[in-house]
Amino acid sequence: MSIEKIKDNVYAVTDGSTRGNVAAYVLPNQVIFVDSGMHIPMIKRFREHIEQETGKKASTLFITHAHGDHVFGNQVFEDCEIITSELTHEAMVESKEKNWTPKAIEEWKKNAEDPAGLDGLKIVLANKTFADEYELIDGDVKVIIKRTGGHTEGSSYVYCPNYGTMFAGDNLFNHSFPWGGTPTSNPVKWAKAIQEYLDLEVEHYIPGHGSTSDKEPLEKFLDYLNKVISLMNDLIAEGETEEEIVKQADKVDYYPPREGREQWKALSLKKWYEVLSA
Ligand SMILES: [Zn+2]
Repeated sequence: MSIEKIKDNVYAVTDGSTRGNVAAYVLPNQVIFVDSGMHIPMIKRFREHIEQETGKKASTLFITHAHGDHVFGNQVFEDCEIITSELTHEAMVESKEKNWTPKAIEEWKKNAEDPAGLDGLKIVLANKTFADEYELIDGDVKVIIKRTGGHTEGSSYVYCPNYGTMFAGDNLFNHSFPWGGTPTSNPVKWAKAIQEYLDLEVEHYIPGHGSTSDKEPLEKFLDYLNKVISLMNDLIAEGETEEEIVKQADKVDYYPPREGREQWKALSLKKWYEVLSA
């Protein structure tokens, strides 16, 4: 695991060792963490390292959305406020009941790169929720968490204007095709969210997967999404079949999914078609 110091007071792990990226904002009197990844010992080390280096204690964990690779380290922050959108909280409650059963977790461990990363996994839910937006203020530093939808309906970003940094969660997969096949994925809300990110004063964007960037990959992704949306809308208006529309959209140029995730593109395009044709 390599801990990246993005700038003064902002740290992240984006090398894939924690699966979903994680970050820490160091505020005047506390440390705020964003997402908890999927490798409990590494998340614990990340927290300890930041607390030691800064001499400040973790107070809060913000959760961007309800996927296992972003929340399975929550137990490391059980003594903190764990804050997420109501919709993400509801999705986690549902997953805990239906998908994150002890049996399913055993299966995951068998297939994980490092099964020890999930040893002793306990599903820890948020203990505080917000509808659309929440602000945390410490001295003259403000951190905003705002729900936009996109990758999932509960998806939220965490923005610190003072530090010019945003953690975008899985609305950004820098330099690879994103996972857009979730039941609540919505390409129109997604494009709107990316435009909102671009309009903010941000120097460093931390994606849910991939490396930290400036605005360039966001511009590229927004351009891609807008092309797919307008192509699909035109073909839907012309009465084309789903099969033909997905086939045409597949030709729009963009990064492929990461290795082993090749099926993501077809499933995402199918989902986006479903949303646009509804
Ligand atoms: Zn996700």
